Amino acid sequence: MSQDSKSSETKSSVAAGEVKSSDLQIARASEKPAPGSLIMSGMRSTHHLHIGNFHGALKQWLDLQKDYRGFYGVMNWHAMTSRYKEPHEVQRFAREIFAEWIAWGLDHEKNVIFIQSEVPEHIELNMFFMMLTPMSWLERVPTWKDAEEDAKATDTHNLGRFMYPVLQAADIAIYRGTHVPIGQDQIPHLELSREIIRRFNFLYGGNLPEPKPIFSETPTLMGSDGRKMSKSYNNAFNLTQEPDEVSKTLRLMPTDPARVRRNDPGEPTKCAVYSFHKLYSKAEDLTWVESGCRSAGIGCGDCKKKLGENIEAQMAGPRVKKRELLENPAQLDQLIEDGCMRARKEARRQLEAVKEWTGIGISYDYP
Ligand code: SF4
Repeated sequence: MSQDSKSSETKSSVAAGEVKSSDLQIARASEKPAPGSLIMSGMRSTHHLHIGNFHGALKQWLDLQKDYRGFYGVMNWHAMTSRYKEPHEVQRFAREIFAEWIAWGLDHEKNVIFIQSEVPEHIELNMFFMMLTPMSWLERVPTWKDAEEDAKATDTHNLGRFMYPVLQAADIAIYRGTHVPIGQDQIPHLELSREIIRRFNFLYGGNLPEPKPIFSETPTLMGSDGRKMSKSYNNAFNLTQEPDEVSKTLRLMPTDPARVRRNDPGEPTKCAVYSFHKLYSKAEDLTWVESGCRSAGIGCGDCKKKLGENIEAQMAGPRVKKRELLENPAQLDQLIEDGCMRARKEARRQLEAVKEWTGIGISYDYP
């Protein structure tokens, strides 16, 4: 059915140019996902994972898997929107991130863990979504407006980057994902996914679920230079760094500027090091930092050393497990293949339904 023949559609909530947040506000207020809900999430394979990726996403997935099955994708097509000149790097990081997730305890049997490009059904559903998404919806996505100048400067002002929220909608819908863990800054993307899916259902009589958010508290982490931690600033802790690399990063990290000399008292809440203690240290160590800093009873070197030990206590096990997987490529390949095959099975089933609803792609059988 063409868009032109749908004049009544302009009055509906699925009309082009009307991305509303009202539904999402309702969803935001919703309770914990019901039993049987399906979680969908992923990460782009652009770089090594850093600890912001853990505290902003992976940690929440580990909690969610206690109660829900999830589909977790290493999104290498999304990575290609910015690193299209280095596909081999994108693929190298895809394998590494897959291994990293398992090393940190993401259950590959309970969940389905896959690499996006190995499931071509994402792209096929994306084609349907591309046709029904007005460009004005994408032009209004705040992250695109914010990123456009940077995209021009870095030679990534491309169609893939402009349209990536459409592919994101397909990533969710191809598995009938019902819930997506997001931070507040990702609300417009999820709103857009819901609008695209709603429009698809309206046009073709489908029944794809409109995904709801599970909000996460994403801490703003400072990098080694005191700016917000970011891969692009090259100031991040990688998620499974060696202890000497962690110490080096900590040594560079700025502290409360009031502590010029060892016996100057400081204020931990003004210090990036303390913000990491809150993530990695137990209550007794936090008390030690707070009182020792304010009374100048401890030096910043003592404080950073304690933090390094506490980070290492959490990183050591996953680092060993990740190394084992990367040094045993046959085992890792098998895990990837199993995950991708399971993902494809689910995705194919959904794509068959899409083809039935639309009539596109069902006419011929090929050997
Ligand atoms: S003692 Fe710790 S919290 Fe206080 S300024 Fe030094 S590094 Fe920061």
